[in-house]
Amino acid sequence: MSEASASGLACEARLNLPNLPLYIDRISDRLQSFDADASQEGQRLDFRFAFGGASFDVDRLVMRANAADRDGLARIKDLLATAIEVYAKEENPEIVWTGDFAGETRLAQFREMVVTQVGDLTPHMRRIRFAGEDLGRFAKFGGMHIRMLFPTREVPEPLWPVLGGNGLPAWPSNDRRPLARVYTIRALDLEKGIIDVDFLIHPGDSVGAHWAMQATAGMKIGIMGPVGRPVRLASWYLMGADETGLPALARMLETLPAETKGAAYIEIADDGERQVIDNATGIELHWLPRNGVPAGLDERLARAILSVAWPTGSAFGWFAAEAAAATTVREHWRGTLGLGRDETLAAAYWRQGAAGLMAG
Ligand SMILES: Cc1cc2nc3c(=O)[nH]c(=O)nc-3n(C[C@H](O)[C@H](O)[C@H](O)COP(=O)(O)OP(=O)(O)OC[C@H]3O[C@@H](n4cnc5c(N)ncnc54)[C@H](O)[C@@H]3O)c2cc1C
Repeated sequence: MSEASASGLACEARLNLPNLPLYIDRISDRLQSFDADASQEGQRLDFRFAFGGASFDVDRLVMRANAADRDGLARIKDLLATAIEVYAKEENPEIVWTGDFAGETRLAQFREMVVTQVGDLTPHMRRIRFAGEDLGRFAKFGGMHIRMLFPTREVPEPLWPVLGGNGLPAWPSNDRRPLARVYTIRALDLEKGIIDVDFLIHPGDSVGAHWAMQATAGMKIGIMGPVGRPVRLASWYLMGADETGLPALARMLETLPAETKGAAYIEIADDGERQVIDNATGIELHWLPRNGVPAGLDERLARAILSVAWPTGSAFGWFAAEAAAATTVREHWRGTLGLGRDETLAAAYWRQGAAGLMAG
């Protein structure tokens, strides 16, 4: 069976990348971490996602994408072009798609959103509600996060991105490009067309926290997404987060199946930052207040994670916090315990002294 025959829409891009065989293992690993099943037939690698398929012909230097609908096709083109951009950065090969929707300039993953409500959950966590149209794709693809595009004092009226011929976002004007930061969709109501985002109000010069402090109903921002790797379903989870990972952790506790077991540790500034989480699971929640230790310098969160014995059976480790803590936990899970990428996800959500981590 040809890889395009299962789905209606298809397109392909020739890759001027003779070194493709050098990168293909890493590309394959990356695509599989987005929940793709991989298989190989001769020189062709096929990837099957829930929403469509992709393939690389390593001999003929062609990559192909197919999907049942426009959103799925756009998602696969974005995953493939991003993988090439990440791993063949130095060769920077031109990617030009031909086939269905090749001339499209509307960026499927972009929406303009309007603030409808602003409220404080705790002294340092502000929840902002946004309304927008056609938000269905933000509940798809297993990604929980968005790239938020903010107007700033320097660029008060940004120009939003369009779709480039390579399948990636293109910016109409560098002078009017908005600044991006990554946030979690804390809650999503497709019928009402709204999303909630929880902003940590942290110290220092900033874009996202600063914008959230000034936010009022009617203000507009852009969002792109969803971004992020899907979390694998397991019957036991070990979770850890500081305030930046708290929105994602809380969303998981509210949506994972009731029979799920495990332990979750959340680092907060002090007891005033505790939130009510409607924990639908059997995962035990532990709050770790820093009580005066500055964010990013308290090692207790990482130590708490390292102290928990890994069970046998279906388990997943999820961790999101400052970069140093994430490195400690990743090295323990991947290095010391030898766990795989499909069993763990330890991510840096911010780094001391660095602005806009992971915002692209
Ligand atoms: C996948 C993902 C999901 C995320 N989800 C959320 C979310 O839902 N809510 C949320 O609030 N954050 C979230 N973050 C973290 C957020 O993107 C970063 O904290 C980001 O730096 C905030 O942007 P900013 O413009 O406020 O600060 P920046 O301009 O990026 O940074 C300015 C200064 O503030 C410091 N800083 C940044 N974050 C913190 C912090 N937490 N504590 C102390 N100092 C800090 C930086 O080191 C820098 O010195 C997420 C990050 C990722 C990767």
